[in-house]
Amino acid sequence: MASVVIVEDDYQIRELAVRALAGAGHVVWSEATGMAGLQSAIDNSPDVVVLDLGLPDVDGGDVLRMIRGVSQVPVIIATARDDDDEMVRLLDAGADEYVVKPYSGAELEARVRALLRRSAVVGPSNSLTVGAMTVDLRSRTVDLDGHAVVLNRKEFDLLAYLATRAGEVVSRQELYAEVWRQPYGGADKTIDVHVSWLRRKLGETAAEPRYLHTVRGVGIKLVDPS
Ligand code: CA
Repeated sequence: MASVVIVEDDYQIRELAVRALAGAGHVVWSEATGMAGLQSAIDNSPDVVVLDLGLPDVDGGDVLRMIRGVSQVPVIIATARDDDDEMVRLLDAGADEYVVKPYSGAELEARVRALLRRSAVVGPSNSLTVGAMTVDLRSRTVDLDGHAVVLNRKEFDLLAYLATRAGEVVSRQELYAEVWRQPYGGADKTIDVHVSWLRRKLGETAAEPRYLHTVRGVGIKLVDPS
């Protein structure tokens, strides 16, 4: 069970979200404007904020920046704009997750649960350490052996997800669902390609892996090589 602040001006969507989350046992506060939502996020110290981008008083992106000025609470952006550039901008501005409208109650609840799982693993420091590698989930930076590793968005998401499950083999199906948000087709080489890019940037190869290990027929594992 978690506590959630929902900021959404559309009455029907707000009611759907409240019903879904309250029905799943969460404590829910809801607000119809950006400023009221910001105030609620401060007053109630929720575990998660669900933030609509199109609000009547203040743009949701600005509300996000104001929340980030005072709090590290995980934020799920809800948007009708299925716009990749906008999403990247908001994820960079501190959003943790997004959900595209129209969403179902079950989908929103699944996003909240996934986010809570991630923040429970990450803890207050928001960084994960595996051997000599530190993955900072807030600044989306990776440090390896004292050097910054420059990754693109998906490479980072993949590495960060594997880092939350360090030492465990993560299946391709799970990576597709959690990192790419797509069902796994089977013949697709997307994950292999990203793993090979990651390996190059981490200075290792498939033949001589250090951190990234492919377990044939099962999945990918990130390990502490020491
Ligand atoms: Ca709206």
